[in-house]
Amino acid sequence: MDIAVYSTKSYDRQFMDTAVGKGHKLHYLEARLTSDTAVLARGSDAVCVFVNDQVNEAVLKEFKVLGVRLVALRAAGYNNVDLDAAKRQEITIARVPAYSPEAVAEHASALILSLNRNIHRAYARVREGNFALEGLLGFNLQGCTVGIVGTGRIGASLARIMKGYGCRVLAYDINPDSACVSFGVTYLALGELLAASDIVSLHCPLTPQTRHLIDAAAIEKMKHGAMLINTSRGAIIDTLAVVNGIKTGVIGHLGLDVYEEEAALFFEDKSDEVIGDDVFERLLTFPNVLVTGHQGFFTSDALAAIAETTIANMTSFEKSGRALHEVT
Ligand code: NAD
Repeated sequence: MDIAVYSTKSYDRQFMDTAVGKGHKLHYLEARLTSDTAVLARGSDAVCVFVNDQVNEAVLKEFKVLGVRLVALRAAGYNNVDLDAAKRQEITIARVPAYSPEAVAEHASALILSLNRNIHRAYARVREGNFALEGLLGFNLQGCTVGIVGTGRIGASLARIMKGYGCRVLAYDINPDSACVSFGVTYLALGELLAASDIVSLHCPLTPQTRHLIDAAAIEKMKHGAMLINTSRGAIIDTLAVVNGIKTGVIGHLGLDVYEEEAALFFEDKSDEVIGDDVFERLLTFPNVLVTGHQGFFTSDALAAIAETTIANMTSFEKSGRALHEVT
């Protein structure tokens, strides 16, 4: 098949070229997919997209006219896809349900450890020749209570990691997992989890039910000084409410790998530009906030697995009319 690959970076080419072999013809596009750039898929049977590409009704209508039959996500989350519109346009949506949950879970744990021991501040200080310890005081993870919201592949992996540190692990999920219970995870209602946890880490998908799951009311229920980690999708937290939570001290540490308005910022070098997003810039002023630019998935293991499954989705679709991992 001819495949237009949107939002391509050098690392995407590297791993996709290795996985594709001689099977399909990949047309790499740097452009992000929007209704303005959908036309670039002209001549393609399928398109391949990433997390901030907009697979909305207008785009899908354009794809239908162009003859595109498959949209293959290089990602697990599909909150950027209008599934009803895809059904109406008879375009198949495929994704990579599980590539390396450990990549994201390990990144969440890296944020926890960095914030807890102020590694982000210590790094800058030592490079300036400042070896003072004031302001770097941490706390032991052993004995802490960690609340995990969403114990799917990534949440369960983080639960195992935090168990390894000797933490008590609580969880909230609309579908509790007996395997997690068997290694010592205790399921509670969300409000109870928030009230009991020293660290809250979010691992549910972004859906209408989880949009702003962590809002002002949820923050009120949290333990004073708790750590909040979000490596899932930005809009699961109400960022302004979280900024207020940091100002009042309810949120003692914040670690983000995702941000509500990240589409305008992440994956690009903006170091020469004035960032116009005041909420994002406010977050960066706090010493107890650590933000990474959606890099939880970014390990060589994960990229190789994403590329292989994406190509397998395409090959299966070409041969049978069905992708291996369709989103329905
Ligand atoms: P998964 O489908 O295996 O697990 C999601 C879990 O969330 C499931 O157990 C589900 O029951 C639960 N859930 C669904 N709705 C819920 C709700 N309303 N309240 C509580 N729990 C709910 O997904 P996963 O592979 O573990 O990935 C989780 C999320 O991580 C993805 O949806 C994606 O948004 C994000 N992600 C981020 C990165 C990154 O680079 N930062 C990479 C991959 C995935």
